[in-house]
Amino acid sequence: MADQLRFDGQVVVVTGAGGGLGKAYATFFASRGASVVVNDLGGSFKGEGQDSKAADVVVNEIKAAGGKAVANYDSVENGDRIIETAIKAFGRIDILINNAGILRDVSFKNMKDQDWDLIFKVHVKGSYKTARAAWPYFRKQKFGRVINTASAAGLYGNFGQTNYSAAKLAMVGFTETLAKEGAKYNIVANVIAPIAASRMTETVMPPDVLALMKPEWVVPLVAVLVHKNNTTESGSIFEVGGGFISKLRWERSSGQLLKCDDSYTASAVLKKWNQVVDFSKPQYPSGPNDFLGLLEESQKLGPNEQ
Ligand code: NAD
Repeated sequence: MADQLRFDGQVVVVTGAGGGLGKAYATFFASRGASVVVNDLGGSFKGEGQDSKAADVVVNEIKAAGGKAVANYDSVENGDRIIETAIKAFGRIDILINNAGILRDVSFKNMKDQDWDLIFKVHVKGSYKTARAAWPYFRKQKFGRVINTASAAGLYGNFGQTNYSAAKLAMVGFTETLAKEGAKYNIVANVIAPIAASRMTETVMPPDVLALMKPEWVVPLVAVLVHKNNTTESGSIFEVGGGFISKLRWERSSGQLLKCDDSYTASAVLKKWNQVVDFSKPQYPSGPNDFLGLLEESQKLGPNEQ
């Protein structure tokens, strides 16, 4: 399907586009008619150092293939400057791919404030800063597309990645709320948990596995989600990689409502534990208000069994 999709006249910002997934997105959008801001700080995968070469190489490749691209070397922590580059170079911003990322893997026992803070600065603050700067343009033109990047580590947890997991799950809540606030302005936001061969994964996975997860195989889903024809998927979570695409959603057990009086004790909770964790009749909540209706119901109940 992505084969038919074009992005002529649109401006795409891809953060962390000097390699891995970001490079795959940037070269794809440029090949489909978009003007692309190739942002990359050019540091190590642990977030150390910086180098303009990473972004320059990709810009040169895009230009050599006849595409339009400009480099930006700012850290996403200064995401407003990245959006400014798009406005100065191309006069608009239509699509934002928040992709830049680093790892500071360490067991929780050995976690240092610096490892925690840097992960949050790059993933969470970085995605906030670019989206916040693009938002007024999106609202004004009544069009905007955002992809944020989570991770399976954020969705499920992963040894040695408490910092990264927490930051990556933050991308889910961030996206779900952006989707709600953006809806009336035709701003669509989705979040992906990708898996792909890159310098991030090449040290932890064997070559034969890496060969099955090319970054290019994440691109078609992203293309579909940010295309102007996508008006249905927003606030959605996808896992994607190695040719597999799936959508995730929150599932809530049908639960147990308890009377909120003196009979609401720990032993009353234990008595109903099977119902609390019973997923045989799941619910799929879509917002905090889904829950509020139950509050009044609780008052109508008789005392809980002890
Ligand atoms: P990568 O290291 O190849 O790419 C990340 C890019 O971001 C690098 O080019 C790096 O220089 C850039 N970057 C880092 N910090 C930056 C900053 N402060 N400002 C601007 N640029 C910065 O890794 P990748 O695998 O392509 O990862 C892309 C995204 O996908 C990341 O957010 C990562 O957490 C996420 N992710 C990847 C995988 C995977 O399997 N590769 C799995 C889950 C999530």
